[in-house]
Amino acid sequence: MTETSDILVIGAGIAGVGAGAMAAAHGASVTVLEAEPTPAYHTTGRSAAIYIRNYGGPVLRAVSDAAHPAFMDPEAFSGGAIAGALLSRRGVLTVATEAEMEGLEASFAESKGLERLTGPQAEALFPLLRKGRIVAASLEPEAADIDVDRLFQGFAKMLRRDGGRIAVNARVGRIARNAQVGRIARVGEAWRVETPAGVFEAPVLVNAAGAWADEVAAMAGAAPLGIVPKRRSAAMLPLPAGIDASVWPLIDPVAFDWYAKPQSGALMVSPADEDPVAPMDAWPDDMVLAEGLDRFAQAMDYEVTRVERAWAGLRSFAPDGTPVVGFAPETPGFFWLAGQGGHGIQTSPALSALAGALLTGGAPAMEAEVVSALSPARFS
Ligand SMILES: Cc1cc2nc3c(=O)[nH]c(=O)nc-3n(C[C@H](O)[C@H](O)[C@H](O)COP(=O)(O)OP(=O)(O)OC[C@H]3O[C@@H](n4cnc5c(N)ncnc54)[C@H](O)[C@@H]3O)c2cc1C
Repeated sequence: MTETSDILVIGAGIAGVGAGAMAAAHGASVTVLEAEPTPAYHTTGRSAAIYIRNYGGPVLRAVSDAAHPAFMDPEAFSGGAIAGALLSRRGVLTVATEAEMEGLEASFAESKGLERLTGPQAEALFPLLRKGRIVAASLEPEAADIDVDRLFQGFAKMLRRDGGRIAVNARVGRIARNAQVGRIARVGEAWRVETPAGVFEAPVLVNAAGAWADEVAAMAGAAPLGIVPKRRSAAMLPLPAGIDASVWPLIDPVAFDWYAKPQSGALMVSPADEDPVAPMDAWPDDMVLAEGLDRFAQAMDYEVTRVERAWAGLRSFAPDGTPVVGFAPETPGFFWLAGQGGHGIQTSPALSALAGALLTGGAPAMEAEVVSALSPARFS
């Protein structure tokens, strides 16, 4: 049996399901193909779930800004599929030792809305900090926890509501162009995609395969862009007895060689690693994790005695570190939605809306300059 749609999306992470939902909302019939038995199994299910406005270069900051209203009023954005704000205030505290003061000043110069704190003020906000080590700090008070599950499920609900579907256990193993789709499309205008869950055809193919984006491009005969997956690990550490850290901010040093975030009654600590790896079901490297936890412990009055659980995910980057969204100039009907790096959740409402508009011939709500900065045409 061959299934036909207007748009086939490869990858049911936040990128693929978000873009699929927005394209379906514009009237397209959409099928999302996912290799795993469960959507969001890879990077989307492994994030730190934080929205930080002052994070990344100018294009990423513009996209994060554009996404903010959807997080605050998802009901309007999703046509009622998601109720209630998706952000809850957390704050990001960036701490500087004497040696890191120059870096701290630089971040004030390039960021918006940061508050300047003294060392003791930083210690009051994050009481595990080793006393007297921090000279000054910045606080981004508006940084917020994202309810990723509700956002992702909301996109999936929108997709289904508008007639789309997610096919799981559907690892795309072969892609051919020049298939004939139904009776209406002419030969030479469609993709034929083979998976263990069936054969799927559509005139438009969206590459939202995360760490596998270049592999999918190669399968489709499109030029790979040099998307590199980089491993980022994390561990849950128990809090000392009797400590409630629920209102503490996320904390990182200016050097950004670890970060920590209170989560579910424990502390999520990451070594902030970004080692390039092949696309895979990622797991932490013991040594990288141990060294990162040690850097964290040196900054704290805290001894790491136990790791409750640890995991890793792949953040995938284009060569210039900016996401890639748009039709491949040299491969008709092939759409890139990749390279979201460490920003894929916080940018997802804006990138999904942009992808939905471009896929269905609508007008993007984003500034033209940002749209071209995201386009794969920049690599041609
Ligand atoms: C530790 C960590 C912390 C992070 N913290 C944050 C954060 O705080 N805020 C933020 O905004 N972002 C964060 N990120 C980044 C964010 O998680 C990613 O940018 C985002 O999840 C990428 O989504 P995606 O849909 O592109 O990729 P994925 O979720 O990986 O989805 C891609 C999907 O494609 C499927 N696929 C691949 N090949 C095929 C094929 N051949 N056939 C069918 N399906 C295929 C895969 O199975 C996968 O499900 C973090 C990431 C990590 C690892």
